[in-house]
Amino acid sequence: MKFDNSYAQLPERFFAGIEPSRVPSPALFAWNADLARELGLDALGDDACRAGYFSGNVPLPGAQPIALAYAGHQFGNFVPQLGDGRAVLLGEVIRAADGQRFDLQLKGSGQTPFSRRGDGKSSLGPVVREYLVSEAMHRLGVPTTRALAAVTTGETVLREARLPGGVLTRVAASHIRVGTFEYFAARRDAEAVRLLLEHAVARHYPDIADAEPLAPAFLGRVVERQAALVAQWMSLGFIHGVMNTDNTAVSGQTIDYGPCAFLDTFEVDKVFSSIDQFGRYAYDQQAAIAQWNLARLADSLLLPGGEQADFEAELGRFAGLFERHYLDLMRRKLGLDGVEADDWGLVTAWLQHLQDNALDYTLSFRDLAATLGGQGEGRFGEFERRWRRRIADDGVSPAHRRAQMDAVNPLYIPRNHLVERAIDAAVGGDFSVFHSLHRVLQAPFTEQPDGAAFASPPEPHEVVEMTFCGT
Ligand code: AMP
Ligand code: MG
Repeated sequence: MKFDNSYAQLPERFFAGIEPSRVPSPALFAWNADLARELGLDALGDDACRAGYFSGNVPLPGAQPIALAYAGHQFGNFVPQLGDGRAVLLGEVIRAADGQRFDLQLKGSGQTPFSRRGDGKSSLGPVVREYLVSEAMHRLGVPTTRALAAVTTGETVLREARLPGGVLTRVAASHIRVGTFEYFAARRDAEAVRLLLEHAVARHYPDIADAEPLAPAFLGRVVERQAALVAQWMSLGFIHGVMNTDNTAVSGQTIDYGPCAFLDTFEVDKVFSSIDQFGRYAYDQQAAIAQWNLARLADSLLLPGGEQADFEAELGRFAGLFERHYLDLMRRKLGLDGVEADDWGLVTAWLQHLQDNALDYTLSFRDLAATLGGQGEGRFGEFERRWRRRIADDGVSPAHRRAQMDAVNPLYIPRNHLVERAIDAAVGGDFSVFHSLHRVLQAPFTEQPDGAAFASPPEPHEVVEMTFCGT
């Protein structure tokens, strides 16, 4: 393996060099062999070797560990300094297949100069959650950071209770956030904003490297990626839960799986996060919030100079792009061929039907497709009649439409109660639930012989009403 640490070549004010803390007895409980192979990390020895490397105990040859500086708007309030308080960037690896660069980051590896009053550690629960949900999102086709490895540390961390500690190795296109730009903009450091912009463009949008002016072109690209990303979240019933600007990656990947959740029954303004008192990051607020976050990126990019109108034009594209992506995805999920004027109305009617009848968001799409095979015909009432009129004469056979719908409507998602179950077992030392859930989530669209228990919505006593941040 070979590291090429371009972020560490940026000026010193971008990061702090650190050594990960040592942990008493690291043990690897998850290793992403496919991803390791993809990144050329498959020759790192046995599980014990990997546990050493991915707990921070043993330095990886060529790694240059740093904690990144960033700021962020948290729930609308600006915090001028956040930074990697419980994470360390080991370095960047290049994927041989296409030359793409990826960050390798340890999360939960001890204190850094950005830890403030935190211990820099992670308990096992958030490690299990991020591993399961980020890998599931990847298999669902959503741009996301990924999980390479997970270890238990043999250490006890103090949270609401004494909990086992863990470290997750996260793989990301980069860890550059909207909040990274805000960090330098807040310090009136126009030179740093410019350097970060050039770095981010070289890394994520090399095709616009020669654009003049560069900043609005970059903003435009981030607008496009975020619009597409949030549309995918919404189509899957995913709620990020903490869409602070420090959790918004300019690469367009989903990052930070804290109080995130998937809808079971459809509720358009659903909130799970215990700290989201006013529903700022509710399911149906996510597009508006992404746009707000992009406006904070625009503010920061304006510091080195530029025409305000250019930035406004790029920001102004968000709503239209989001709606187009979302409607396209929903057409596919509902098996609608082509484009008709009232498709938006049909989507709305579907969501209204789900909400009025407290139906499961994910499974209802599969159930709707099953009516094409005669199973449960008529169960979706007036909506179903309208839907049948829409699909009546497009020449697509029922069997073909059903197959097309099933190919985009997952049967298995990391439901909140399943993730909780995996966490509870893991904290008790039993990783079998984690492993079987993880395996099923690797093929979310394909019915699996032993998958039934993982497809069902929660029983009333299993419903998760509230989720918590990983801290
Ligand atoms: P998050 O809510 O995970 O996006 O984290 C927000 C900020 O809090 C980031 O700057 C984190 O590095 C920091 N943070 C969260 N948990 C800890 C912890 N246990 N120790 C130190 N810093 C933390
Ligand atoms: Mg974060």
